[in-house]
Amino acid sequence: MENYNKELEKNLLELVKEKEESDRNLLRLEIVLGVCCLLPLIAAVIVVSAVPMEEWIGAVVVLGSLLPLLIATPFALKIEQKAGYYLCRHCGHRHIPKYSSVFFAMHTGRTRYMRCPACGKYSWQKKVLRKED
Ligand SMILES: [Zn+2]
Repeated sequence: MENYNKELEKNLLELVKEKEESDRNLLRLEIVLGVCCLLPLIAAVIVVSAVPMEEWIGAVVVLGSLLPLLIATPFALKIEQKAGYYLCRHCGHRHIPKYSSVFFAMHTGRTRYMRCPACGKYSWQKKVLRKED
């Protein structure tokens, strides 16, 4: 029985490590996705400012280059929501917020101003990868 418990504990720790690594990779993927979707916009702005063309054509080119970013943003936010946890500064509770909370929250980088489901207070919550420390 003791051997079984040790084996179970070892497997659980392995699962926790795998989830952390998977979350870390997802957050890296989010950055790559964001950069890849920003490149067309930057290229379009450079081309439109360097090449003489009618204004409406320039506007169409720039707005068209925004499409990849507009399409990728909901997926990047989904990654932001599901990968890791948000840490409440008041009570230390770690949670996975609702998509709408992540979507509407003010943020700087990955730190978001959200309400903690445990204590109910608003704070700037930092993204962490571990459920417990
Ligand atoms: Zn809290």
